Amino acid sequence: MKISDILANSTKAYPSLEIVPPLRGMTKNELLESIAPFMEFSPKYINVTSHRDEFEFREEADGTFSRHLIRNRISETTVCTAIMSKYDVETVPHIICAGTTAEEIESKLDNLEFLGINNIVALRGDSMTGEKRFSPTPGGYRYASELVEGIRKYQGSAGYRRQRSEEKRSPIRSGMTDGYEMTDRYFCIGVGGYPEKHFEAANIETDIANLKKKIDAGADYVITQMFFDNQVYYDFVRRCREAGITVPIIPGLKPLSTARQVNMLPESFSLDIPVELTSEIAKAGEDKEAIYQIGTEWCISQCKDLIAHGVPAVHFYTMGKSKNIVNILKECF
Ligand code: FAD
Repeated sequence: MKISDILANSTKAYPSLEIVPPLRGMTKNELLESIAPFMEFSPKYINVTSHRDEFEFREEADGTFSRHLIRNRISETTVCTAIMSKYDVETVPHIICAGTTAEEIESKLDNLEFLGINNIVALRGDSMTGEKRFSPTPGGYRYASELVEGIRKYQGSAGYRRQRSEEKRSPIRSGMTDGYEMTDRYFCIGVGGYPEKHFEAANIETDIANLKKKIDAGADYVITQMFFDNQVYYDFVRRCREAGITVPIIPGLKPLSTARQVNMLPESFSLDIPVELTSEIAKAGEDKEAIYQIGTEWCISQCKDLIAHGVPAVHFYTMGKSKNIVNILKECF
């Protein structure tokens, strides 16, 4: 079922869960066991993030450097397939522009269509380690809005059959739509939104205008970056509505679980952590269990407040951890 239909037919808020594909070396059974605790909540779907391949340069014996591809994680499509082989749950792979050409993305879409997966979250991705700014791969997309546009032009297997009979090239490859009818909106597309603004955007107004480009290109809903102050989300939704964005905006939450994250999360995700939370954590000192509990309780109260405000769903960035998320789900859903 498409997420847009789930959202349209849902009468109360439901949890949306995002997992990160395992590092190479983890077995399928280990992956499935790691998400088993979520299954007692009958999630409607599970999002699976996507990670760009990285390169490293190694010095050879003759003093020259050679470039090596490092693939650290199992692909999102493989993980989705593994999940669907065991559990009766929809999966939502994330597709990123970073490090990929439009043709490679088209091939991913072929695989998803083949598997019957018709939900996607479309994202740009980030720069490679060591790169100052994001630069698109030659033949790839620069912004997520371009990716959404590309996905909307996807003709799928019906397109290939037509292509073979008409001897025309696929539009996503050529960037042309002439002579082709758009197929039905096969993929339901989610995109990312930033209540505290994306770190590269000059201001929140510009960032929301860019978010609107993704919706205008055909995205069906928004999932927000994590935030720790609900007012930030409510203000963001109001600004989006004023800017003409009418699609559902699902709030994204992550429970803080270690003292280190007080510095790491703002640095990595360009967000603020309210002083009430940071000072409670400071008071807990070295007591790791107490910090974990404070982060979980904070997230529970955020989640309950969001539900009371009528959000359609709450998205959880589980980041490979289930214990705190399970506690939050037990309290809130
Ligand atoms: P975009 O929407 O392309 O925006 C990027 C920047 O460009 C913004 O500053 C925007 O304002 C600006 N911009 C956009 N369009 C234009 C335009 N036409 N002209 C000028 N400026 C423009 N990363 C991963 O690698 N894998 C994942 O699986 C993943 N999942 C995520 C899930 C969610 C819900 C979210 C919120 C983020 C996720 N990310 C993931 C992180 C994401 O890839 C980064 O935040 C990335 O830096 C931006 O991605 P985007 O899709 O929001 O980019």
